[in-house]
Amino acid sequence: MELDELYREVILDHNQNPRRHGRLTDPSASQGLYNPTCGDRITVDVQVRDEKVADAAFDGHGCSISTASASMLMDSIVGQPLDEARRTARGFIDFITGRREEPPPGEWDSLAGVRRFASRVKCATLAHNALLQALDELQADPAHPESPPKDD
Ligand code: ZN
Repeated sequence: MELDELYREVILDHNQNPRRHGRLTDPSASQGLYNPTCGDRITVDVQVRDEKVADAAFDGHGCSISTASASMLMDSIVGQPLDEARRTARGFIDFITGRREEPPPGEWDSLAGVRRFASRVKCATLAHNALLQALDELQADPAHPESPPKDD
C-alpha cells in the first residue's frame, strides 16, 4: 500500500473544511501537544457542562492525518457525556495502535491505513491524547469547576 492511499476523500474533506477549528473563548480545559516526528502542533479546547462536552475546538498546524483526525474527533465528541468522549478517544487510539480490530463508530475507518505506518500513528492520535489529558486535568483541578448552567 502506498502512503498516497492514506489520503482518502474523507481525509481530504476534513482538511479542506476542518470541523470546529479555532479556539473557544472560555474553555473548561485545554491542552496543547506537539508531535516532534512530524511537526504537528494541536491544541484542543473543551467546554464541559453537566458532565457533557458542550463544545469543543482544535487549533494549530499539522499534516493531513493529524488535522483530519482532530476534526473527526471534535465532530464526534460534542454532545457526548465525558465518559463516552473518553471511550471514543481511547477506542480510536486502541484501533490505530492495533490493540483492537474494529474502529469506533463513525468515520474512523477512513484512517485505518495509518495502522500500516508506525511513524504516522502519533499524527493520528495527537488530538485524542490532548483531549484525554485535558479531561484528566479538568477532573484533577477543582480550581476550574464546570461552568454553571446559564439561566436564560
Ligand atoms: Zn503529522
